[in-house]
Amino acid sequence: MKKRKKKRGLSPISSRKLGTVPVRIGHGFDVHRLEPGDGVVLGGVPIACPYRVVAHSDGDVLIHALCDALLGAAALGDIGRWFPDTDARWRGADSRALLREVVRKLAAAGWRAGNVDLTLIAQVPRVAPHVAAMQRALAQDLGIGVDAVGVKATTSEGLGFTGRKEGIAAHAVALLRR
Ligand code: MG
Repeated sequence: MKKRKKKRGLSPISSRKLGTVPVRIGHGFDVHRLEPGDGVVLGGVPIACPYRVVAHSDGDVLIHALCDALLGAAALGDIGRWFPDTDARWRGADSRALLREVVRKLAAAGWRAGNVDLTLIAQVPRVAPHVAAMQRALAQDLGIGVDAVGVKATTSEGLGFTGRKEGIAAHAVALLRR
């Protein structure tokens, strides 16, 4: 008599079934170098400070991490795939325009943002006075309420490249809804 192998654990969910799940989650991360300058753009908000971000676009790490979280949740690749830094069209690009384009791509795939949560890791500049403006800008581009846009900032206690003010970093998570 043939011995039947006992199945263990849960059966894998098929991608067809996964397509019917009404929510998705995604994570994004970005880093940019800092150098002496006259200001940065973070979360869509220009901030005057003695630094600038070295980047092909406006170097908005918060929005770049957010775009990757949104695209990742929909399994639509990443920001580098859609807006390559080898393409002159994106030189000095306003990252808010990239974010709105990502929102359009999500909509075409049947998704919209539920809530998002962002964390900036930066020794400089001080962003606390600008958080509310960032929430408003991002909420507008995402088409959601400001109460669904978390923006937080932390230093790295002087440690590492962010602590040495050589660069800034950002993490983002995003929930998508059908
Ligand atoms: Mg970037």
